[in-house]
Amino acid sequence: MARISLEEALERYGIARWGDGFFSVSRQGELLVLPTREPRRAVSLPALVDRLRAEGTGTPLLFRFPQVLEARVRELADAFAAAREEFNYAGAYRPAYPLKVNQKRVVVETLFRAGRDHGMALEAGSRAELMLALGMGLPPGTMVIVNGYKDRRTLRLAVLGARLGLDVVVVLEKLFEVDRLLEAFADAGEGPLPLVGLRTRLYARGAGRWWKSSGITAKFGLTTSSLLAAIERLRAAGHGDRVRFLHFHLGSQIPEIRRLKAAFREGARTWARLRKMGVPLEYLDVGGGLAVDYDGSRTSSDASRNYSLEEYANDVVFFTGEVATEEGVPHPVLLSESGRALTAHHALLVADVLGRIGADPPPPEDVEVPPDAPLVLRELATLREQIGAKTWREYWHDAVEHRDEMVTLFNIGLIDLPQRALAEQLFWEIARRALAWARKERTLPPEFEQLEKALHEKYIVNFSVFQAAPDHWALDQLFPVVPLRRLREEPTVRASLVDITCDSDGAIERFIDVKDVREALDLHEPEGCPGGRPYDLALCLLGAYQDVMGDQHNLLGAPAEVHVTVDEEGNPRIERVLPPEPAAGVLADFGWDAEELAARAEEALRGRGTAGVDADLLADYRAALAAGTYLSPE
Ligand SMILES: *Cc1c(COP(=O)(O)O)cnc(C)c1O
Repeated sequence: MARISLEEALERYGIARWGDGFFSVSRQGELLVLPTREPRRAVSLPALVDRLRAEGTGTPLLFRFPQVLEARVRELADAFAAAREEFNYAGAYRPAYPLKVNQKRVVVETLFRAGRDHGMALEAGSRAELMLALGMGLPPGTMVIVNGYKDRRTLRLAVLGARLGLDVVVVLEKLFEVDRLLEAFADAGEGPLPLVGLRTRLYARGAGRWWKSSGITAKFGLTTSSLLAAIERLRAAGHGDRVRFLHFHLGSQIPEIRRLKAAFREGARTWARLRKMGVPLEYLDVGGGLAVDYDGSRTSSDASRNYSLEEYANDVVFFTGEVATEEGVPHPVLLSESGRALTAHHALLVADVLGRIGADPPPPEDVEVPPDAPLVLRELATLREQIGAKTWREYWHDAVEHRDEMVTLFNIGLIDLPQRALAEQLFWEIARRALAWARKERTLPPEFEQLEKALHEKYIVNFSVFQAAPDHWALDQLFPVVPLRRLREEPTVRASLVDITCDSDGAIERFIDVKDVREALDLHEPEGCPGGRPYDLALCLLGAYQDVMGDQHNLLGAPAEVHVTVDEEGNPRIERVLPPEPAAGVLADFGWDAEELAARAEEALRGRGTAGVDADLLADYRAALAAGTYLSPE
């Protein structure tokens, strides 16, 4: 087996680029996670998988590294602190965590604990998210931003939040919400009330996949005229002094800094002009959009970003400060709602390769084609034998012709099935050999690109795209995929991935690349893993949105979940193991009661087969209800 250098190993799957210091490769070719970014505290992911398997928790496994969340919060706060110092910015900065990005308890609690010293706020976009924020025991004075569409009930909860001592900000998205809010204020009696925020709809537009969140036709935000009308109404009702907060949001994953700069300028100017009109604004919230470099290319492709965290922070601070100073108003307290950037890196899925789907294997070199076999068969055998440096292109064309002819002959009954099988095997072997020659050309001839695709293998992976990475299916979003082991071994197979759902969309056929998008990954023979282990793949950067948006297509539910930290000495600690969602649970979500299903099966079975075996079969049914929904090795 050919060995490759550590540098090559890091380069091949782009780990050094998209990994952002959280991922690396060991000398032994294992995928490493660095939860704190310190190389001396690196964790071997395959060693963890081995340990969990030995303890009875098999793949697929969702890994969560809470320390990655802590590192990201720190980094975001540090970037803004440095920017404020550099540009003599007088206002503070607070990170706000938008709950919709990942509402899992461990994620929210870890982020909040890490962000508390930096004045972290939480953003709720629905009533249930607001209920989460109000009930999680936040310390008094914590800011809770209420975005999204709001009904009377939601506004009552916002008032409750203010009574709990939280700095609740109700951000008005639509003019009709003003009257509703005023009613809630009128019904609130004596006591603290929420502050009012205004969400402005900027002219500046995002880019990338989520640009629809902004621009003049956006679903959210007040136009300039409704912004002014809202202020008038609030003032008329005697609540003008509560308007302290201006908010905008350009959309998620903005790959181009140019778009963000335009929004920062427009937002800052709006803030300053409102302030000069006597609106007592204190806060400016620049929303989300801080992108994650999923493909590691550092470009303005949808899967990337052409700027760094530092550049982002510098631009927010610089433009806001510059405009405020020029307009002669105070520097606002800045907030950003950077959800994706805080969470994407902390979660990944490890899943085992179950098998492969490939073209026919080559026929033996010495296969005999009898002299009385149909001419096409003998021709194909000769082409296979003689294809070479000078003839590959011509012979490939001949092979295609013979293959078509062979099918015609089969359809009229002149070729039997064993002959057809041999012809197909010969054809694919000629294809492989022609392609090998074609790849030596400076650029791959177009007709061979198609062939390249047809010759990719497909690895069957024990997971569901719909559950693990729904944005890949819905939006073509790209996520890095890396083998867990053998990273210093030269890959010999080009393969794309299919999942275990019965849906042809349940596949990954587009992969990250520095320059472009790849249609296949370079992988290893799945059979050759040491100790007979499965060939495991890691699907990375799943911590934002994917983790909470996955569905139960084909009744495949959540996989087992593991929380891992690393101690000062670099020893990994498995903090928690959550079992996979059982089949009974997934069935219950669709109205099927597990007990009832089992009882019906039992009743129908009565006295039909061998008593002992039947009892065992039924016990298996019950055990399967309690087990997870993915394939297991036993
Ligand atoms: C979704 C959303 C965010 C999160 O955006 P990211 O790009 O994930 O940081 C922030 N603010 C609002 C209002 C949102 O709707």
